Amino acid sequence: MHVIIAGAGIAGLTVSLALAEKGWRVSLVERTEQLSEVGAGLQLGANAVRILSELGLAEPLMAAGFAPQAAEVRVAATGKLLLRNPLGAEAQARWGAPYLQISRTDLQFILLNAAKDHPQINLRLGAEVVSVEPDGSTATAILADGERIEGDLVIGADGVRSRLRNALFGSQPLQFTGQVAWRGLVPAERFSPGLIPPVAAVWTAPAKHFVHYYVCGGRMVNFVGVVERDWREESWTEPGDPAELQADFAGWPEPVRAICAAVEQPFRWALYGRPPMPRWSRGRATLMGDACHPMLPFLAQGAAMAIEDAAVLALELEQNTDVPGALQAYEQTRLPRATKVQSWSRRNARLFHLPQPASEALFGAAALADRFVPGGAAARFDWLYGYRTT
Ligand SMILES: Cc1cc2nc3c(=O)[nH]c(=O)nc-3n(C[C@H](O)[C@H](O)[C@H](O)COP(=O)(O)OP(=O)(O)OC[C@H]3O[C@@H](n4cnc5c(N)ncnc54)[C@H](O)[C@@H]3O)c2cc1C
Repeated sequence: MHVIIAGAGIAGLTVSLALAEKGWRVSLVERTEQLSEVGAGLQLGANAVRILSELGLAEPLMAAGFAPQAAEVRVAATGKLLLRNPLGAEAQARWGAPYLQISRTDLQFILLNAAKDHPQINLRLGAEVVSVEPDGSTATAILADGERIEGDLVIGADGVRSRLRNALFGSQPLQFTGQVAWRGLVPAERFSPGLIPPVAAVWTAPAKHFVHYYVCGGRMVNFVGVVERDWREESWTEPGDPAELQADFAGWPEPVRAICAAVEQPFRWALYGRPPMPRWSRGRATLMGDACHPMLPFLAQGAAMAIEDAAVLALELEQNTDVPGALQAYEQTRLPRATKVQSWSRRNARLFHLPQPASEALFGAAALADRFVPGGAAARFDWLYGYRTT
């Protein structure tokens, strides 16, 4: 069996490995000549780390990632701790795998190295898939230079601006959220010891929030700062002005100000919402990852959902040799879950930006529940991090 995959991002690389392991011949076609170094940090819940570990990647992941002790939510104005969810040994015991923070570049290169070593995977850089013919006894991917690659299945793992999504289903509605995210990476050695705690930290305020955590084995600090503003460039590579970042978070607690002062080149991207698609598959073609369910970053599940998609698709194709039937089964399993995660991400955007009394009341209720039922706060995330594809 031969699959053609458009896009060597997190989704495309993971599904290449998962299918190659099951004996498929993989043509992995990536538009860029060289994979990018611009990505910042990503969080990988136990749901994603478990799948990557089953692909034999636990060792490099642990070496490149950082395992936080907890997730902490605080009020920016006062520093008050609203909620603390343990993410260390307790989380690993509860969800069966560690919670990791990792730079996107490191994750992509770990996957890429495994793909390069795999005899079943043929990686083609600098080739763009522009269309697909899915309806027949085979499927064909059409490249920008007119080349046609025929196989049993075509997967569009070509990211948020997916050409295959447009080719299969037409252009999809897009809505600006009114939010802009700053992001960047800062060497940890620039901070005085102890200033940046080893946790996934979220600072909340009306109409703004700021997240920071370690990546690269603790050598770098990643941050994302979200502000409500009308600026609409949806790009991963748009540099921003450090002075503007500092002004947005002036007067915030010391770790936030220190990070904003230390970053040499912050980036910024406008956050767009996309309603769930009713279908992801047509004939012998399907979509995965950001191509079909782009996530707002507020539940930190964009990469994890792409990784889950890959595992489920490979499993369905193993269990069902009828490719269109397997794609329907994949979509029925994945679409409701991805939609739920999209909706929780939107909900967190509202929660993080509430005025203080309301935010204290909401997070306080969760903390109280945890005091009466030990592990109560963690239990609210069992559906997310405890997810198993088998
Ligand atoms: C450069 C970059 C930086 C990012 N930085 C962050 C970040 O800081 N924080 C965060 O939360 N998320 C970030 N993301 C998004 C995050 O990686 C994804 O949400 C998640 O990993 C899901 O991955 P995906 O594989 O579906 O999409 P992506 O990671 O976007 O991968 C899609 C891949 O497809 C390739 N491609 C696109 N069109 C075509 C085509 N027509 N033919 C062939 N190849 C094609 C792209 O070059 C890319 O390699 C970034 C993505 C990119 C591409």
